[in-house]
Amino acid sequence: MQNILDPKVLEQFRQEHKLQPYRIRQIEQEIFHNANIDFADMTTLSKEMREQLAADFSVVPLTVDRIDECKETSKFLFQTSDGNVVESVLMYHFHKDKKTKKEKLNRMTLCISSQVGCSVGCIFCVTGKMGLKKNLDRTEVLGQVLYVNNYIKKRFGKREDGTLFRVRNIVFMWMGEPMMNYSAVKKTSEYLTDTRYFWLSQRRVTISTSGVIPSMEKFIDDKLPVSLAFSLHAPNQTLREELVPTIAKFYTLDKLMAVLDRYTQETGNEVMYEYVMIKDKNDMHEIAHQTGTLLQGRKAHLNLIPYNENPAIDLEESDAKQIRQFQKIVLSYGVPVTVRENMGREKKSACGQLGYEKVVATLTQQK
Ligand code: SF4
Repeated sequence: MQNILDPKVLEQFRQEHKLQPYRIRQIEQEIFHNANIDFADMTTLSKEMREQLAADFSVVPLTVDRIDECKETSKFLFQTSDGNVVESVLMYHFHKDKKTKKEKLNRMTLCISSQVGCSVGCIFCVTGKMGLKKNLDRTEVLGQVLYVNNYIKKRFGKREDGTLFRVRNIVFMWMGEPMMNYSAVKKTSEYLTDTRYFWLSQRRVTISTSGVIPSMEKFIDDKLPVSLAFSLHAPNQTLREELVPTIAKFYTLDKLMAVLDRYTQETGNEVMYEYVMIKDKNDMHEIAHQTGTLLQGRKAHLNLIPYNENPAIDLEESDAKQIRQFQKIVLSYGVPVTVRENMGREKKSACGQLGYEKVVATLTQQK
């Protein structure tokens, strides 16, 4: 079955069925604006057309194995048509309603995968233990967003103003290193920000990379209208090679900082520096001073992420006091620093825990 997200395929369908050009736009509206992924639900189309489309096409080329829900997150386990499993996590952000004082759903962020597994092998990440299984194609990446928008529509319906609840922020930071599947990530980003499709602003789509220089250079040259986050994790080359062993040797910290500087100069955008806080590895005071020195004067925002412990990896989370002190030291260099609230731990949906079950199952078998 063909996927409908290919404009050429859709145009071919239109010609074969002698449809007016505006019909294409109608189909797109149903998918992207009305958040429908089942042709039977696309009631602005004729019954005949819905049946023709259903016979030839799929909208989401993934099947859903399971959805794990908790108050803060929903984790989606998708299966690709070739039998691989890939995950996405939807995070719910609440705020207190001024009038009722009750907690209300405010916005949702979706973390999507660009690969099945990952070859970067960061020592704190369960996905890295899987190795790389395959690159996802554009339709498999977009399919995650389309499926989740449809899930949100069914679960939450409309806002008070009559518009549909939908994903507001998208981050390429779940399974995989997006810059190692740059061509699919680029095409997906174009869809996400195009007013014809998802119409998300640049600020609301972020590519998070552990530092793959050739693709980062392309990303700058292509002027992709999305934001950039860089997984720093260490302010010096020796420590970075320990934490991000496979690529840090080739793409050294000094070269990476030069590319990131070029990015801020050419775009005027800030870079979000991600930093997983691991006890006695990268959370010491002297490391905080080095981090402050590295980022001082740069258009940078540091995001400290408490490490998520899991049985597959022998590392510990920094304690809260240490994280606060680290934050204070870096702040003293004039660098904005936030500490990320870790969501979804109970469902193994937090950062570094993706592929958790698969890895734990493999390790158990090996024992
Ligand atoms: S943290 Fe990201 S880049 Fe590193 S191994 Fe995990 S998925 Fe890959």
